[in-house]
Amino acid sequence: MAVLDGTMRAVVVHGAGDLRLEHRDVPAPGPGEVAIAVRYGGICGSDLHYWRHGAVGEFRVREPLVLGHEVAGTVHALGDGVESVTVGAPVTVHPATPCGACRQCLGGRPNICPNARYLGSAARFPHVQGGFADVLVVREDQVIALPAGLDLRRAAVVEPASVAWHAVRQLGDARDSRVLVTGAGPIGCLVVSALRAAGAAEIVVTDVHPEPLAVAAALGATRTVLVGDGTDDLTADAAIESSGSPAGFNTCLRAVDRGGLVVGLGLLPPGDSPIAANLIVTRELRVVGSFRFDREPGDVLAALSDGRLAVDPVITQVVPLDALGDAFPLAGDPTRSCKVLLDFAGGTP
Ligand SMILES: [Zn+2]
Ligand SMILES: [Zn+2]
Repeated sequence: MAVLDGTMRAVVVHGAGDLRLEHRDVPAPGPGEVAIAVRYGGICGSDLHYWRHGAVGEFRVREPLVLGHEVAGTVHALGDGVESVTVGAPVTVHPATPCGACRQCLGGRPNICPNARYLGSAARFPHVQGGFADVLVVREDQVIALPAGLDLRRAAVVEPASVAWHAVRQLGDARDSRVLVTGAGPIGCLVVSALRAAGAAEIVVTDVHPEPLAVAAALGATRTVLVGDGTDDLTADAAIESSGSPAGFNTCLRAVDRGGLVVGLGLLPPGDSPIAANLIVTRELRVVGSFRFDREPGDVLAALSDGRLAVDPVITQVVPLDALGDAFPLAGDPTRSCKVLLDFAGGTP
């Protein structure tokens, strides 16, 4: 952490292509809040969208937005009444704050709460400022203490690993099943890891580039397929669509057995997407979405601790914050990187 004279660094997007490293006042935690000294921040697809397009889907940046929702660090200061953590403890953060009062929240599915706020998101106005900053203040119930011995780098991927874990959970019991994963970006690769942990027998992964497939293989994919080489012969009991493309979705619909299950995880382009919907009808396919996560970080941390969940091959680069201008193009190039972490240690405040 680099804090000087009460100011800190923050990664702020102002619009398409306009990403700045700025100085902000260090925020102080209010009652029931915790200030975290951020050490690592994982660059996510949504961060890349805000940087490139000034928007994620329909959510446009309308005021300067601090990016980032995949962070790990140590507790820096406590607001009044906080008792569950101590200063200096290693932690990660649950980026969502659901309302707790709607039908979805009361029904045990807060990840699809229509009123939820999410770190580093322009979905609401004022925007919810994110965690790519030396100091991040969140509610006490968003702070997730790390098990002893888990390093902060791995902790920085607990958020995307929880997204993957939630998607695998949508399969029900994945043990001994044959699963297709379309798209080997960071999320698709973490889906492979989560499928391994869940005991899947076959994990077939497709992508348009060879480099991401090599990461998927390192994580336990039993077969990798370059899309250009043809996907017509693929068969599976279930599929998890992680590419965010209609073509990937169609590969899933065609590959699963009659009566099979397709989990939609990757966000498709904004608007309506053309998919082979007749297959859903004539083959009685089940199609279910998977959005963010709820309590999965607990399972992910346990699986990281006992070695069931492999994530190291996903983290391909750790870039110091001073090299921010290189980090985003790197993270946006699937032939050069999988998950890129920003390192907030050191540097010039
Ligand atoms: Zn993310
Ligand atoms: Zn709610």
